[in-house]
Amino acid sequence: MKPYIDTHAHLSMLSQGDIPAESRISELFSAGFGGIIDVGTKAEDLPGRIGAFAKFTGVRFSAGIWPSPESIAGRGDLIRVLERGIVEAPQGAVVAVGECGLDRHWNTAEAGVDPVEEGELLELQLDLAERLGLPVIIHSREAAAETAAALARRPAFRGVIHCFSYGVPEARIFLNMGCYISFAGNLTYKNAPGIREALGYIPPDRLLLETDSPYLAPVPYRGKPGEPGMVAETYAMAAELRKIDPDELLGQVSENVRELFGFTVKPKAAGA
Ligand SMILES: [Zn+2]
Repeated sequence: MKPYIDTHAHLSMLSQGDIPAESRISELFSAGFGGIIDVGTKAEDLPGRIGAFAKFTGVRFSAGIWPSPESIAGRGDLIRVLERGIVEAPQGAVVAVGECGLDRHWNTAEAGVDPVEEGELLELQLDLAERLGLPVIIHSREAAAETAAALARRPAFRGVIHCFSYGVPEARIFLNMGCYISFAGNLTYKNAPGIREALGYIPPDRLLLETDSPYLAPVPYRGKPGEPGMVAETYAMAAELRKIDPDELLGQVSENVRELFGFTVKPKAAGA
């Protein structure tokens, strides 16, 4: 297996899909897999994830608060819990804040979410990332304009729009703000022409790829629980759509991971 990097996985959720995370990850790394960024969604989930997965030298962590109605309501206290978790983590383990952002698909008025409060939870995490000097993994669903407005107020912003679900016009706006753009398994879905078109528009030095596992398994696993190894299908599709050599694409993404997250994936020694 090539040293693929999955820049966004939720390893502790793999068991929900009956995938034994630790043995699967161990198998992948033994086969030559490159690296995984394990992404947090709750203020307090970091210590448990580090406990389970930091033993794998190819895993790094982000920590952030996904905008659920409960987290939005509790944002003032939760941001302190999040910060403490990051500050107390082993040196070098945490490479980003996130995922955090805006989700206007789920967070509607009917769901009882106040968009101003949802925005405040994002702002608190953008402040935290600035204080800690970390890049940010942004979740943005049906909220392109609102997300862009929030990031536009932060000229020093460094981060990625993960699981990109918009088209070329939105990609252009985020790229102009210096964002990286990451594509997940939905890139392989035939009903996603806008996302595929956006992929072709991303400059090589801003492109990232991910699974968002256990969600969004790529074709031919669509509908099944995802796991990081499936990112190989997303790399293959991205190379085909961008008409470049798969190894060249892998090299570009690895370089971008190093540049944005400071995470260098070491090639496996021969025979190891
Ligand atoms: Zn995610």
